[in-house]
Amino acid sequence: MPKKRAATKTVHPPFQAPSDLNLLAQSPVFASTYPLAGDPTPSNPYQYGRFGNPSWQALETQIGELEEGHCVLFPSGMAAISAVLMALTQQGDTIIVPGDGYEPTLAFARQYLSKYGITVKPVPILELLDTPFDGVRLVLCENPSNPMLDQIDIELLANKVHQANCLLVVDNTVATPLGQKPLTLGADLVLASGSKALNGHSDTLMGYVTTPCSNLISEIRTWRKLSGAIPGPMEAFLVQRGLATLAMRLDTMCRNAQRIANHLNELTKPPKAIINWVRYPGLDHDPASALAQKQMQNTGFLITFEMGSEHAARRFLGACKLITEATSFGGLHSMAERRARWQPSLLSAATIRLSVGCEHVDDLLDDIDQALATLD
Ligand SMILES: *Cc1c(COP(=O)(O)O)cnc(C)c1O
Repeated sequence: MPKKRAATKTVHPPFQAPSDLNLLAQSPVFASTYPLAGDPTPSNPYQYGRFGNPSWQALETQIGELEEGHCVLFPSGMAAISAVLMALTQQGDTIIVPGDGYEPTLAFARQYLSKYGITVKPVPILELLDTPFDGVRLVLCENPSNPMLDQIDIELLANKVHQANCLLVVDNTVATPLGQKPLTLGADLVLASGSKALNGHSDTLMGYVTTPCSNLISEIRTWRKLSGAIPGPMEAFLVQRGLATLAMRLDTMCRNAQRIANHLNELTKPPKAIINWVRYPGLDHDPASALAQKQMQNTGFLITFEMGSEHAARRFLGACKLITEATSFGGLHSMAERRARWQPSLLSAATIRLSVGCEHVDDLLDDIDQALATLD
């Protein structure tokens, strides 16, 4: 059998939960415990529900194949992030976390790791390559950064991090493994929220950690077993079902996003100039465009842009009929929000992050135009 392509891997998992029936699709396996005679052996993952579950394993082998590492699932992206930060650091360590990324990551590190004597340094993505890593235990980087969509050369960063004997962890939530594979670019660990594009249906939370290193993955697995941060089998099943359509959802979302970014970009120009700037790596002049071409398989479905004022941004969001004002991204449904409502120190109040979904692009363009027309 020749090597499978990524889209095929999203449909055909390498591991199916055992069943008496010959099923074509997966079914969730519900079990809080399993028959376990005699002494437990390390080779048997099915001893107790918190230690292992076939529905986790089905999704873990599939994500692992896509990311090219061993995978451990968590009930949310934050559970995956906290697992890596708690399991792989100790008192006296210094870690670097995104200074301009997903805010709860920084909040978790500051609020909890600091209590255990770990020094937390927030660094914006564009300053990472100029930051000395001597004495640093771990660098967590989000590429592309959320919501400004800046990028860093992951391969260069990995080299620099490894020269300092330090671990590079990449948050791959925005890109998904079909958009970018940081482990193949030199990252030691990848973590992500599966609650966004990976599942894609805005109905389930999930997270995961992957790494090619068997020692690191066993530390992460032990953390899950002992902290109890486990996903439900139903959630694993739902995410696996969502993942099967990731390739075609991304195709549509990225194509739609390019059209919409082009349109918004036109509106930054006179005579209208009702938008100040647009960030989308598929726009030629975007600062992240060259890196996106180098290390990503697509230009994504997120667009970040700034309206003329906070008032205009609020009015625009309120006037959209198809695009829902909501936090999160990567779903079938297009959604947008002012990110400053969560990160006021990082962004202007007029900045909007738009997650483009799978609706017909002309309907989305019509919705944007009718909402903008209410501002005149
Ligand atoms: C949403 C998100 C997370 C957290 O994921 P949850 O599943 O909501 O816990 C982490 N990193 C990034 C970049 C995210 O967008």
